[in-house]
Amino acid sequence: MKVLKFGGSSVAMPESIRQVKSIVQSQNDVVVVVVSALGGVTDELIRISKLAESADAAYLERLQALRKRHVDTCDALVGTGKDGKLLRMAVDSLLNELDSICRGVFLLKVLPMKTRDQILSFGERLSSLIVTAAVGNAEQYDSLEFIRTKNGIVDFPETNRQVAEKFSDYGEGSPVIIVPGFIARDQTGEIATLGRGGSDYTASILAAALDADTLEIWTDVDGFMSADPRIIENAYVIDELTYEEATELCNFGAKVVYPPTLYPVCLKKIPILVKNTFNPEAPGSLIRNPVPGQKDQRVIKGISSIDNISLITVSATSMVGIIGVDQRIFTALAEENINVFLVSQSASETGISIGVSASDAEKACRVLSDTFAAEIASGAIYPVKREDELAAIAIVGENMKHNCGIAGKLFSILGRNGISIIACAQGASETNISFVVENKSLRKSLNVIHEGFFLSEYQELNLFICGIGTVGGQLLEQIALQQEKLKQRRNLKINVVGIARSTKAVFDRGGIDLANWKELLAQGMPITPSKLRDEVIGMNIFNAVFVDCTASTDVAALYEDFFNHGISVVAANKIAASSDYQNYRKLKKTARRRGVKFLFETNVGAGLPIINTINSLRNSGDHVLKIEAVLSGTLNFIFNTISKDIPFSETVRMAKEQGYSEPDPRVDLSGMDVVRKLVILSREAGYEVNQENVVAETFIPTEFFDCSLDEFWNKLPSLDEAFEKKRQRLEEEHKHWRFVAKMDEGRYTVSLQTFDEHHSFYSLDGSNNIVLLTTERYHDHPMLIQGYGAGASVTAAGVFADIISIANVTN
Ligand code: ADP
Ligand code: ASP
Ligand code: MG
Repeated sequence: MKVLKFGGSSVAMPESIRQVKSIVQSQNDVVVVVVSALGGVTDELIRISKLAESADAAYLERLQALRKRHVDTCDALVGTGKDGKLLRMAVDSLLNELDSICRGVFLLKVLPMKTRDQILSFGERLSSLIVTAAVGNAEQYDSLEFIRTKNGIVDFPETNRQVAEKFSDYGEGSPVIIVPGFIARDQTGEIATLGRGGSDYTASILAAALDADTLEIWTDVDGFMSADPRIIENAYVIDELTYEEATELCNFGAKVVYPPTLYPVCLKKIPILVKNTFNPEAPGSLIRNPVPGQKDQRVIKGISSIDNISLITVSATSMVGIIGVDQRIFTALAEENINVFLVSQSASETGISIGVSASDAEKACRVLSDTFAAEIASGAIYPVKREDELAAIAIVGENMKHNCGIAGKLFSILGRNGISIIACAQGASETNISFVVENKSLRKSLNVIHEGFFLSEYQELNLFICGIGTVGGQLLEQIALQQEKLKQRRNLKINVVGIARSTKAVFDRGGIDLANWKELLAQGMPITPSKLRDEVIGMNIFNAVFVDCTASTDVAALYEDFFNHGISVVAANKIAASSDYQNYRKLKKTARRRGVKFLFETNVGAGLPIINTINSLRNSGDHVLKIEAVLSGTLNFIFNTISKDIPFSETVRMAKEQGYSEPDPRVDLSGMDVVRKLVILSREAGYEVNQENVVAETFIPTEFFDCSLDEFWNKLPSLDEAFEKKRQRLEEEHKHWRFVAKMDEGRYTVSLQTFDEHHSFYSLDGSNNIVLLTTERYHDHPMLIQGYGAGASVTAAGVFADIISIANVTN
């Protein structure tokens, strides 16, 4: 024999009730069916009763709508024939009774607890009538006749006796019995309710009283999940869990099963199966005692949470001499019916923190301040402290007790993501570690823990892309093209959660649709650098990466704040890495300390793996002695393109138009860009150097750098003749111009040089870059890295590669 319970969403609409009918009819066993009120009805009855209590006539309209919903459901399911009429009569009579009770509340403007319970009872009484008629060959048993409470809790001896009596004839061949959940009668005969979600409890009480083989909870998800699926997109169904694990998770907010439900069936060792009414083929989750010999490898089964809690702390420099503090705290709270769901006390006994729901916080604070009034007045105990807007999270798994390092892993995941823990507690049973974080970090905490402990279907990275010029624009295009492939092939989900340009930004936690990011950005919010920082940090999103595709000093100045909030930075922007040495060191140190990444491979040589190579050499104990490099894609392009037909000024224009040069090409022509790159490479190679330490020889007169950009373009052709003369001479000598950056054991230069065909710098096509690294190991034959070193698409690809490398380190 089985007890099946169908929740509110399973009976919310006529179609879902038809689905319930088909599930019930497909059972081979004898079944008892417990039903909730039609989805949302209990909430609506609460609203109606409150309106009536405050003498607001609007309650009537809502009551009318509620009547219509039930009547429409009857008509849709049973029609208006003979059965339909009988059902309508019964339903109308209940609705009329509800009308008159609400009218009484409206007139008297009072809503005693028992009247409230009476009003709420109509939800299940109505739904059970309707489901009975819809299922056919079924009989409604009224739980008000046999579920008994006494002093606010279930009176099991009396209930079991009454159930046995009511169901004495029930067995093979009987019609299906349909029972309203949630409602009971107390010792005085008044209607009582079993608490929100209480239909699960009714089903469990019946299953235990009737010695059922199984209790099935039919709901709207595929089973008991590893985390709340409304918060964690990646949550998955747990195939099996123990009563203890389920209890820990349900007590801590896993709404799928009402916590008291577990107790009656656990006592009788009746398994619970959680199933999806809308996907009955899914196997669901089985809750039962551990099966001897069957070893479950998973250390953590699930995560659950409660938001909006407050932490009340009673503390003193030493409580050692003060007698019975704990006992007095808990007695005082219990007397006021304040539920405590987390306690954290240090071994030094200097303080005890208690987690209570926000609605109880004020009362708890007052009660404890009264209890310790004398000690507080004498200064032996500090005034009671209250912290609000917090959330409690629990990770649960019976196997935690056999495994070391779970707490370590948990706290390091949280720390790495910039989430601080306000209090924590681990029960002696070691099946649960609970801790308190700020409410605003709840979603992020759940996500990072879920990702850290469970093999999710895929890993997620959440990107903020700043700058939508050539590189940023290309990057967005490349991400849009690769998004699906990365998800399928590398199990990596890339969400672009923010896009910003200098004055506007758009943010979307769920991921911006890259098919029309331009329109979305055009309608975005106005932004300044500091607003951008506040928005990015304020989103508090997990696995966040800020991608800087600007050339802005203001944006580069935000990195440190990002690191301090657990956000990695990938920069195509060279400003930070080439800024003052102390700032560069500080940024790298902060990122390391915070466990986030600061990557800027594209600062030098676009997508070429130059910085990564230098890092690998150093990590393996090598030492870079000399760097010689042609690092300006723009200057290379210019000196490779210049010919008798294309004068110097034209090559500069072409470099700009083809996206090689910086927006102001003088940054390239002055050698400034190469200076920055040399500084970055040398620093990565372990040298302490600033831009001022580099001797830069320019090949263009200084007045070209002191004028406006327009003037510069106007007078640029005046240099053509001189360049042409030099070019002809080089042609005769079979030499090529190269703008070379050189670091030789602490001496730094950038200058325009010429090379003949015997030098590896001689043949370098288009905008290619080349780097020669002389190290202790690569001494007689330096290491050579060569390839495309400029251009938006290779730079964007390099940025993309940095982003993806972050995904590999977050696990
Ligand atoms: P019913 O109306 O069937 O009683 P509830 O709304 O009470 O359903 O409970 C099911 C809901 O619980 C799911 O829709 C889901 O959003 C939520 N939920 C929260 N935590 C979990 C979890 N760990 N596993 C499954 N569902 C959960
Ligand atoms: N209808 C009640 C509620 O919404 C009981 C239940 O659905 O389990 O809380
Ligand atoms: Mg429920």
